[in-house]
Amino acid sequence: MKYISTRGDFQEYTASQAIEKGLCSDRGLFVPKKFPKISLKEINDMKHNNYGQIALNILENYLTDYNKEELKECIGVYDKTFSHPDKTPIVKLKDNIYVLELWHGPTLAFKDMALQIMPRLFTQAREKNNADKDSLILVATSGDTGKAALEGFKDLKGVKVVVFYPVDGVSDVQRLQMITSQGKNVEVVGVNGNFDDCQTAVKNIFLDKELNLSLNKFKLSSANSINLGRLLPQIIYYFKAYLQLLKDDEITLGELVDFSVPSGNFGDILAGYYAKQMGLPVGKLICASNKNNVLYDFLKTGVYNKQREFFKTMSPSMDILVSSNLERLIYHILEDSKVLKNLYSKFEETGILKLDSVSLKKIQESIGADYSTEKECLQSIYNTFDKNNYMIDPHTSVAMNAALKNKLRKTIVLSTANIYKFSSNILKAFDMEKEDEFENIQILKNLSKKEVPLGIKNLKSLKIIHTKVIEKDKLNDSLKIL
Ligand SMILES: *Cc1c(COP(=O)(O)O)cnc(C)c1O
Repeated sequence: MKYISTRGDFQEYTASQAIEKGLCSDRGLFVPKKFPKISLKEINDMKHNNYGQIALNILENYLTDYNKEELKECIGVYDKTFSHPDKTPIVKLKDNIYVLELWHGPTLAFKDMALQIMPRLFTQAREKNNADKDSLILVATSGDTGKAALEGFKDLKGVKVVVFYPVDGVSDVQRLQMITSQGKNVEVVGVNGNFDDCQTAVKNIFLDKELNLSLNKFKLSSANSINLGRLLPQIIYYFKAYLQLLKDDEITLGELVDFSVPSGNFGDILAGYYAKQMGLPVGKLICASNKNNVLYDFLKTGVYNKQREFFKTMSPSMDILVSSNLERLIYHILEDSKVLKNLYSKFEETGILKLDSVSLKKIQESIGADYSTEKECLQSIYNTFDKNNYMIDPHTSVAMNAALKNKLRKTIVLSTANIYKFSSNILKAFDMEKEDEFENIQILKNLSKKEVPLGIKNLKSLKIIHTKVIEKDKLNDSLKIL
């Protein structure tokens, strides 16, 4: 399988080259030249496979310059660091809703699904391509990516990681998780700005020739969800979820199911689109947004306008105005990199992207959209608990709300964070939140009857290591000292 840029640099890249580079030189994103197909029979044959075996079946199609042994070694990480034997268990609720729990990894958010395996694919890519310099991985995070990247890359050879996070844009637990991170090769920097400021600054660092010169001893790369090594492993759990329902006799082979996906940078849902293109019987993918509903507006009208107010919400990992992975979806729909390049040049100039109505219709055949206000998000947490005795975090709640409002058939709601990452926000739904976050964790424990994971319990006693905070236009300076 070869990879090309969405913006028409016609050079072809291997998977390992794409993973090592992160972003194409023409600012485009790497996409597969075509989608590998998996037949219904092959899907049925996987029915009794475990997560690792399914992962191998999927990734073999895409990572064709990795051999089986290399892939198995990378995939082995799921057995080492995930706390649940199924990796992504499913909980059945009322009303034909199934919750796919994607947060049993070490940092308790769905980012671990990709960021545990991706660093391993990355170091193997460096070896394959005979890397002569260390890699400097720059990460902009809205909360969960940062910790997941710090954990995934911790103490890996030949790699240094710097994470930029918006100081006031993440939850208490998210911040604590990051600033207590250990590892000789990691650094965490707070930014006075929002996630988009961080993401834009990181993208610009890649294009800043002068700065790149001063960072000459490094090869720059990205672990953000634009990296192909993030996207591809996320396809696995869509298949795993379908196979689980098949195995449990909840569905019959070929029956369509919908997925409701809490979306920010559009990576998670895009992986679902890839699964559908490969032949997984997916009806609709519902793109669920919070109050920052730029994706909703785009999917309804074809106009993406980032010139709008940015809201800090209870689901901070989805507080995003520029949704990078959308570029890949638009590319696959248009199948024309010239048109796409024009659209994105204009978008980068004006902040507005207008898609033609034929292409929009094509998108709407696969992807629905909805969004939740903050009030709806709280109501949906409350209602889900009231009805099912099952507690969900605010991100999952946004997807739950969208699922119940749009349900056409059996729907799998992607649950993206462990509840204890967002205790105070959850307790707002019950009018029970207090000042102190560790007190909130106890209250939530008594209410939900769910065990508090070790990673959360231990946070209080960990030493704070990373205290640096900078202004949003000073990211470059903070790197010059490396
Ligand atoms: C990152 C994240 C999302 C959004 O996923 P995207 O791939 O950026 O759309 C949703 N929920 C949680 C908890 C996250 O960490």
